[in-house]
Amino acid sequence: MKKIAVLGSTGSIGTQTLEVVRENGDIQVMGLAAGSNTDLLEKQIREFHPVKAAVWSKEKAKELRVRVADTDTEIISGMEGLIEVAVMEDTQILVTAIVGMIGIRPTIEAIKAGKDIALANKETLVTAGHLIMPLAEKTGVSILPVDSEHSAIFQSLQGNDRRTVKKILLTASGGPFRGKKQEDLLEIRVEDALKHPNWSMGAKITIDSSTMVNKGLEVIEAKWLFDVEVDDVQVVVQPQSIIHSMVEYEDGAVIAQLGTPDMKLPIQYALYYPERRYLPGERLDFWNIGKLDFEKPDMETFYGLKLAYEAGKRGGSLPTVFNAANELAVSMFLRREAKYLEISEIIEDCMMAHKNIENPTLEQILEIEAETYERINSRR
Ligand code: NDP
Ligand code: MG
Repeated sequence: MKKIAVLGSTGSIGTQTLEVVRENGDIQVMGLAAGSNTDLLEKQIREFHPVKAAVWSKEKAKELRVRVADTDTEIISGMEGLIEVAVMEDTQILVTAIVGMIGIRPTIEAIKAGKDIALANKETLVTAGHLIMPLAEKTGVSILPVDSEHSAIFQSLQGNDRRTVKKILLTASGGPFRGKKQEDLLEIRVEDALKHPNWSMGAKITIDSSTMVNKGLEVIEAKWLFDVEVDDVQVVVQPQSIIHSMVEYEDGAVIAQLGTPDMKLPIQYALYYPERRYLPGERLDFWNIGKLDFEKPDMETFYGLKLAYEAGKRGGSLPTVFNAANELAVSMFLRREAKYLEISEIIEDCMMAHKNIENPTLEQILEIEAETYERINSRR
């Protein structure tokens, strides 16, 4: 029986991972970790009987410990708790479905402990890819993409020589504001930005999709996962989200993966790779679809994407600044403390002020994250 642990089990990817586990019935959940949703975590503990479960705050952990005293699950907390769940002795795969670069330390520790990573938590790879990929290679660990585009690329690479890859065609829905210009986005409210046309996801990535910063993070994620230059990753807007991404080869052939928008497919593919299994759900009906559309992304309006290309190209610590600034700016927007268009402005301001460090250590990455936060907070 396959044994896994899930960081971020109460979120959008986390709950869908547990649905895949439930539907297949042959995976054992050894560990779970969540931020603060202890009601859902308690239900998950009672259903999946993990050995350990982590909650971020000490107080919440204390409370939960009392509530699940009748079970055998040990409740732990804080960063130590996350790391403990990440490195549990018997697990083979760690699903990183936590949001934000808080995932860096547990991911690194899990790789050191020899766990394969089913990676949804793109912020970790964007900021620490230069540490994670060589470490994974050294320890013989697989990094299996969960992000739908990267799973599509991974699937399109199967059976082909990586050296014959010409470029990666990363598809994007364009988000709810596709076709709009800056002046149309001045008064965007949280409710407007939270409406994604094709996918239902956590709040942070939904905002990132609307600004196209998510696509920018994905360009850098692709650079690390598939060892390509960011200039060889071309974003193609495909508004129906049916082509999940494509690979162009030396001979001009383009191989793509298509499907209905359902994150359970990439999750299941990562958990059982290289096996393909039955997955319930809607199938593509091309007679009904009729046609697919393609567009060039508007990097003037959605210039967060342009900034991501710059951060990805220059590398070093700049992607950390790009990501950290975005994380704080998005949470400010969600708390209604920043306007929508300020998100990209804040990122640009932080990137301009930063002195790039070529190969930042983990400590430097975390310091730069804190400095970026300080810079944003001090200017409010
Ligand atoms: P959600 O916001 O839905 O879930 C985030 C999860 O992380 C929750 O379980 C949350 O716990 C947990 N979490 C947050 N902070 C902490 C913390 N300090 N300690 C422990 N757990 C914490 O996010 P998504 O599932 O949408 O996204 C997760 C990751 O996957 C992101 O990196 C995103 O970019 C990526 N991704 C998501 C996709 C999607 O379809 N949703 C698609 C592709 C990638 P709690 O709720 O208890 O606070
Ligand atoms: Mg994606």
